[in-house]
Amino acid sequence: MNKKNPAQLSVGSQEAIDLAEQWGAHNYHPLEVVVANAEGVWVEDPEGNRYMDMLSAYSAVNQGHRHPRVIGALIEQAQRVTLTSRAFHNDRLGPFLKQLCALTGFEAALPMNTGAEAVETAIKAARKWGYKVKGVPDGQAEIIVATDNFHGRTTTIVGFSTEAQYRDGFGPFTPGFRIVPFGDADALAAAFNANTVAFLIEPIQGEAGINVPPDGYLARARALCDQHNALLIADEIQTGFGRTGRMFAHEWEGISVDGMCLGKALGGGVLPVSAFVADKRVMDVFHPGDHGSTFGGNPLGAAVAMAALDVLIDEDLTARAAALGDWFMAQLLEIDSPHVQEVRGRGLLIGVEIKESSGRAGPFCDRLKERGLLCKETHAQVIRFAPPLVITKDELAWALGHIREVLTAP
Ligand SMILES: *Cc1c(COP(=O)(O)O)cnc(C)c1O
Repeated sequence: MNKKNPAQLSVGSQEAIDLAEQWGAHNYHPLEVVVANAEGVWVEDPEGNRYMDMLSAYSAVNQGHRHPRVIGALIEQAQRVTLTSRAFHNDRLGPFLKQLCALTGFEAALPMNTGAEAVETAIKAARKWGYKVKGVPDGQAEIIVATDNFHGRTTTIVGFSTEAQYRDGFGPFTPGFRIVPFGDADALAAAFNANTVAFLIEPIQGEAGINVPPDGYLARARALCDQHNALLIADEIQTGFGRTGRMFAHEWEGISVDGMCLGKALGGGVLPVSAFVADKRVMDVFHPGDHGSTFGGNPLGAAVAMAALDVLIDEDLTARAAALGDWFMAQLLEIDSPHVQEVRGRGLLIGVEIKESSGRAGPFCDRLKERGLLCKETHAQVIRFAPPLVITKDELAWALGHIREVLTAP
């Protein structure tokens, strides 16, 4: 690994942890590992211990850590111009938007930075479309969302979370959301009314524990949205860009959607780059001054995102995720473990649910870490396996050996 830390800037693992503990807000509980260098699927701590990254920053590192083409684009652009705000044009934004639209099949894209901002943009677009195009009475728009959703951490978004901790202490919340059980098409059908403007859904729920909806659910959602003149909006922030073995996870059902929230891997694991994409019949509700972001669409992020998309296509990472994911899943299913309740997922987004009688998933992640494999549990019982999509079969086989031993130990 290419190490360039100036010695005076680097701190040891314990010091790094202590400093973050002392000076940081305590809004995370990270695994006890400090990453100081990274390349591809591998990361290294300050003491030189190597680990395989099986989380990929929640799928933001699909292209692998510090992909040379993405870093090359970053450096080249950093030497020209990094930020203009949208008060001026910049020469990277247009090409980026065009490339993103070509890839997603939509007519327009609105660039933001974080995933939550892309979701907020989708919510604003859907509401305004509801009032200006559909004709919903002012203040009455409703957006349907699913139980166990994860769409980000803003106050509006946590307001329609069903996770008590995400909401606790943060109210009052934005009205206008109706929650239905994830995967239950009949409940969804019953939730529409004349004021419904959108159904916002993760095609596979990531944070909730890699929940794959029943076959036909998204197709039914598509039909219901058509029937009720509502927008079907997919949050593909975690599932998009090849992760599930399709470019976007809703393609598994062969449906089209009316808009998508994108983020994470759009920034190539380098910068926060997100977007809401839709056709003009929706996007044209935005007029100058309606919505924006100082950093959204900045030339540095745009250059990095273009390189990140190029890498996805040129290295055919979606096909890799499909092929390696099938193989990895089959191998995981063959493990005869007393601890495993279920293995589920698609492509290289796989959850292994630990039986409650075997304790929580966290200690299994600690044991994997001791063997050089970085995973993080999602909620109490699920270990999420989501390596960078550039991983090789040999590397996955190495990981499997350790996973097998940890899961079969009594
Ligand atoms: C991570 C995530 C978000 C939020 O993205 P941030 O960049 O953390 O704001 C939204 N939706 C889904 C499905 C995600 O996985």
